[in-house]
Amino acid sequence: MKITDVRVIRFRTHADRWDIGHARLRPAAEVSQTVTCIDTDAGLTGWFFGGGKHGDQDGMSPDEQRLIEGRVRDLLLGVDPFDREAVWKWMWVANLPEVAQSVIDCALWDLAGRAAGQPVYKLMGAARDKVPAYASTYPNIGPPQVYAEHALACRAEGYKAYKIHPHYFWNPDTGLPTKGRPSNIRADIETINLVREAVGPDMVLMYDVWGTYHTIEETIKVGRELERNDFYWFEHPMPEYRVESYRRLCRELSIPILAPEIAAGGVFTRAEWILQGASDMSRMDIRRGGVTGCRKTAVVCEAFGQRCEIHMAGWGNLQVMGATSQDTSEWYEKGLLAPGVDYDAPHPYLERNCDPMDAEGHVALPTAPGLGYEPIWDYIDDNRVPS
Ligand SMILES: [Mg+2]
Repeated sequence: MKITDVRVIRFRTHADRWDIGHARLRPAAEVSQTVTCIDTDAGLTGWFFGGGKHGDQDGMSPDEQRLIEGRVRDLLLGVDPFDREAVWKWMWVANLPEVAQSVIDCALWDLAGRAAGQPVYKLMGAARDKVPAYASTYPNIGPPQVYAEHALACRAEGYKAYKIHPHYFWNPDTGLPTKGRPSNIRADIETINLVREAVGPDMVLMYDVWGTYHTIEETIKVGRELERNDFYWFEHPMPEYRVESYRRLCRELSIPILAPEIAAGGVFTRAEWILQGASDMSRMDIRRGGVTGCRKTAVVCEAFGQRCEIHMAGWGNLQVMGATSQDTSEWYEKGLLAPGVDYDAPHPYLERNCDPMDAEGHVALPTAPGLGYEPIWDYIDDNRVPS
């Protein structure tokens, strides 16, 4: 089989979103989505939806799209689409933006799965058919009490775990974007305590400030509150270009530090952080090296007896989790969620969403071949944006 074309279709759609700078709902906000298509001489096409922002519900940037339709396409034409490892290595050496190489790798996995008539996680070797989900909030969903109420609402929906993205780049006292320092530690500590008090001892709680604590002293102060309230992990607390701060933090706190989250370099960076003792759990997702890079990271972590917690929702991340044991990759990040955001509303361009949750708080792995998409092409064609 040979690759005959690489195309990116951009189209308009809509979904509920949260304005994180002002803590307010944006109902049915316009979303620019992309589907990357890798065509073959066998008549099979591999697809990948997304590439931008959180999860896979937003399209790539126009620059990444042009790169894929130009240089990447030229180099993929005539290549056997099953030579994923060779393509993956080439894309790393070529120093392509991580999102662009990830989109290609995921579309090749989709193609391989549909050629075999199997979901990708079965093709890789399935470890399980369902994964436990946690409710992951948007940042800045409101003052501390709003988090406590939201956590209770999520528990009532069946969630067994809840992750707080607290107040950053936004001041919950004034309701305005934060000038200067991004974090609001006092409100964050109040939130940690109110949420635990509201949900009681049994709900698993996680905490993620997205690198906005700028000193190790304030990070340790909040970390002690998390420990006192029996939180499960402390994610990406400080900027990730200061690895030594993370080494000190891991030595100082007993709560597991989950990182790096957004550091560039995919599996290579995560392997280095493990050796440095700079994280207790690793963070990885399919936008940082595709399904291939994500699965490699999970294997490295498994060898070191360290968890590889998969970052963000979406079809590709779910497939990697299905091929990885619960002891290595435990929790699926469902969201982002906020009061009034209907995360489970069907995407108008797909027959079904990837991650409906059952009453026990589990998400079942998709059963359709490939990554699992069943696209509604009439909708995509009707909403196409010329590039
Ligand atoms: Mg995070």
